Amino acid sequence: MYLAELRFTLIADTEFSLAEQAIRRYLEALIFNGQMLGREFPTAFTGDAFCSRLVLPTADALSGQHASARVKAAEQQLAAAGLGYPQCQLLGQDLMSQQTVTELPAELVLFTTYADTCSPLRCANTLQPVPLFWLNPAAADYEALIRWQLQFQALDEIQLQQDRVLHKTAENSLQHYQSKLNRQGRKLATQLARQNQRPVWYALYSGSATDCQAEADKCCPGCGGNWRLATPQAGMFDFRCDNCLLLSNIAWECQSNSGE
Ligand SMILES: [Zn+2]
Repeated sequence: MYLAELRFTLIADTEFSLAEQAIRRYLEALIFNGQMLGREFPTAFTGDAFCSRLVLPTADALSGQHASARVKAAEQQLAAAGLGYPQCQLLGQDLMSQQTVTELPAELVLFTTYADTCSPLRCANTLQPVPLFWLNPAAADYEALIRWQLQFQALDEIQLQQDRVLHKTAENSLQHYQSKLNRQGRKLATQLARQNQRPVWYALYSGSATDCQAEADKCCPGCGGNWRLATPQAGMFDFRCDNCLLLSNIAWECQSNSGE
């Protein structure tokens, strides 16, 4: 991924708040189309322009060919707010983020964790992030998917804390096959699979378990079938159900016992 600076030059008299709103609307449209990553975009006013720092999934992520209708509309509104067409300068590879795939993989997995700043769609075999704008969205853009990712990450962050403010709620949402979070995620994966004519697996999180023997032998929560893999997929998933398009792992605390 790449670190970039986006420069919005002042081309007409404007109010600071109008310019700020137009920039925010434009950058949010990019986020919901997967053209920029993360939720933060530090922005400075330099006297004749506003400069924002962004992380991009590919060097050409901001190219017009990837723009959604919402991105194009927000781009037009920049001029109405007294701002010129945004000028992008690539600063280089972002050393802090994962390496994007170089081509669209045959199989994808919907998988994210609290620490990610990348796309929640990954290659099912390498877990490398896949730029969302390479795919056909199930709606106008990927807002529903990004909002799902934000909620997943917030719950994952909570359940990792030692002194949790929501003891079981966060973990149940992440682990239970029928939780609202997982129902939403599976639906998004199914829609994307249909729209893109390729499997989109859903990664079901397993965080903790009370019985490690039962954990290693558990069945698929979707169909009750045997789904244990002989060798983990992508070095991460011990379970795979081809019927339900589900991937999952043995609960972390049982992994040292998983050899039986
Ligand atoms: Zn199943």
